Amino acid sequence: MINATRLAQEFARQAAIESPSFGEGKISGYLQERFRELGARVVMDDAGPKAGSQSGNLIARFPARGKNSEPLMLSVHMDTVSPTEGVSPVLKDGVFTSEGDTILGADDKAGIAEIIEALEVVRENGIPHGPIEVLVTICEEVGLLGAKLLDYSKISARRGLALDTSGVDLVIHRAPCANKMLYEITGREAHAGIAPELGVSAIQVAARAIDRMRLGRIDHETTANIGVIAGGQATNIVPRKVVLQGEARSHDAAKLVRQTDHMRACLEEACHELAVRIDDRPVRAQVKGEVVADYPLMAVPREAGIIRLLEQAAGSLGRKLEVRSAGGGSDANIFNSHGIETVILGTGMTNVHSVNESVSVADMVRVAELLVEVLRRA
Ligand SMILES: [Zn+2]
Repeated sequence: MINATRLAQEFARQAAIESPSFGEGKISGYLQERFRELGARVVMDDAGPKAGSQSGNLIARFPARGKNSEPLMLSVHMDTVSPTEGVSPVLKDGVFTSEGDTILGADDKAGIAEIIEALEVVRENGIPHGPIEVLVTICEEVGLLGAKLLDYSKISARRGLALDTSGVDLVIHRAPCANKMLYEITGREAHAGIAPELGVSAIQVAARAIDRMRLGRIDHETTANIGVIAGGQATNIVPRKVVLQGEARSHDAAKLVRQTDHMRACLEEACHELAVRIDDRPVRAQVKGEVVADYPLMAVPREAGIIRLLEQAAGSLGRKLEVRSAGGGSDANIFNSHGIETVILGTGMTNVHSVNESVSVADMVRVAELLVEVLRRA
């Protein structure tokens, strides 16, 4: 039933439209028109000005036809990572790539094209379906801004599929919660050759603290990292300031709190241990910190209705799904925290976030096929 040529053309049209985060105006305009052609009522929320983007999130509503069931949300994001300048998709031997100096944008346009093809098939074959809400978010790649700023009063679905991961027949039902941290260590500046005893080295404090921190893979569901360090001015100055940026992730919210506290405690401890006496007064470095909750936990139960729906759809095609956890957050984390039980579905895209990104037409056809069966059964 899937029209592979139509699907490939749809993808190629979208991929040729540059749509970096914040610069989604053109792709948004294209998609609004496309979803209206397919029979949807399309609304845009007010996330655009809040995020500083050219577009808000789009919600395309397809009313039920011949079937009475709960609404289903299908979500994708319209922005891509960079470089995008002059992006031009190339189709060779059934595989789309870029010309080599930009990303392709299969992340997440493969998903958008697959949804559109599934809707085309449902319409031309008169397949009965319940209410469908297609949500296309902005600024996913720069901190899930669209999902975080989404006007949730515009979504009535309580279950959803986010088409936004590599692989085919792959379902992600769990993803960690994460904190981002920014710490500023302030010591005391002094001439390193003439009066080093009047200084407190922020670099030394940072080094001791980081050496003490449990980092990397903490346990089977928790990770942590200090990813950026910056500080110091010159070799002859005891450094006054160091800035650290780090993160922690866990599939267990309590463990995330513990790991975040531990990292902070290591910094405090190092300040304390490396304190000195200057003019008979204790002088120690200070830590100022900022912890930002990056995204909340996503933990859809293995037996959830949305996973059963996917398994039945796959089963009808003689296919079996792989259902597993992911190591990073996405829009779906945010949807789940707003009570929309959402799992992530593979779109066939590969080597994303690189100029080697690709997607094959055959894989997109497989995903669209699965979506048709999902819509038939939803
Ligand atoms: Zn993506």
